[in-house]
Amino acid sequence: AQTELIRAQRFESLAMLAGGLSHDLRNLLQPLLLAGESLRDHADDPQLARLGALVRDCGKRGLDMVQSMLSFARGARRAEEVSLGGLMDALGLLLQGSVPRAIRMEMAVDARDLAFAGNHTELQQCLLNLCLNAIQAMPEGGELRIETAQLRLDADFFLAGEQPHPGRYLRLSVVDNGPGMSREVQARLFEPFFTTKEHGTGLGLLSCRRIVASHGGVMRVDSEPGRGTRFDLYIPLQEAAADAADANGDDSDSLEG
Ligand code: ADP
Repeated sequence: AQTELIRAQRFESLAMLAGGLSHDLRNLLQPLLLAGESLRDHADDPQLARLGALVRDCGKRGLDMVQSMLSFARGARRAEEVSLGGLMDALGLLLQGSVPRAIRMEMAVDARDLAFAGNHTELQQCLLNLCLNAIQAMPEGGELRIETAQLRLDADFFLAGEQPHPGRYLRLSVVDNGPGMSREVQARLFEPFFTTKEHGTGLGLLSCRRIVASHGGVMRVDSEPGRGTRFDLYIPLQEAAADAADANGDDSDSLEG
């Protein structure tokens, strides 16, 4: 209970920090976005107009991130309908410029048409974090694979301390064949500010877990030194909530073993 309390307090200060920071960042980004927009729409020189569009888009993305940081701080979340295809396309676009040549990126999306309740910006941020971690873990190159699947989770899938909600889930996975992580690193992954990087923040995975939890989902890590790392995010599909309320445990609609 003591450690639980310390964890809660750390979380609280982190949320306060995020709240303060997002507020200041928003005040910086808003004028940047407007300046970019005005340049885009009114510059005579087409090159300047393109530059304006770029500034505007970056400002917009920054503001979206700030927005999700604010929601994190407030513990509130804007629910919307997320399109799996749209989410993957956005991720692909964001990664385009960040994937070095030496890394082979592959995306395997099982159902582009799938729509589910969630928050696009948050999930995008979460997947982006995982992908950038994988890329940074493989400076010499390697394979980065993003895959999606739908499956049914039974009650025994859930760990102690998690609310078991059996039902249908979307699994979003980020897999790399980089150096993997030692047991020691794995044990500390979700500690605030834990990083092994010179310029890391140590907040990436914590914020991922928070986003997944706010979707009612769970996260799993599978990593072995020398073999690579796999992060799986399990996001409940609408039926999961209904299934949880439903007492008859019929799993005949299992989509994957
Ligand atoms: P940061 O990226 O700022 O260090 P994170 O919370 O995202 O913060 O990650 C914490 C640590 O987990 C990283 O510093 C790294 O040691 C380890 N890590 C995360 N993803 C991977 C990966 N795909 N391969 C190897 N190590 C990883």
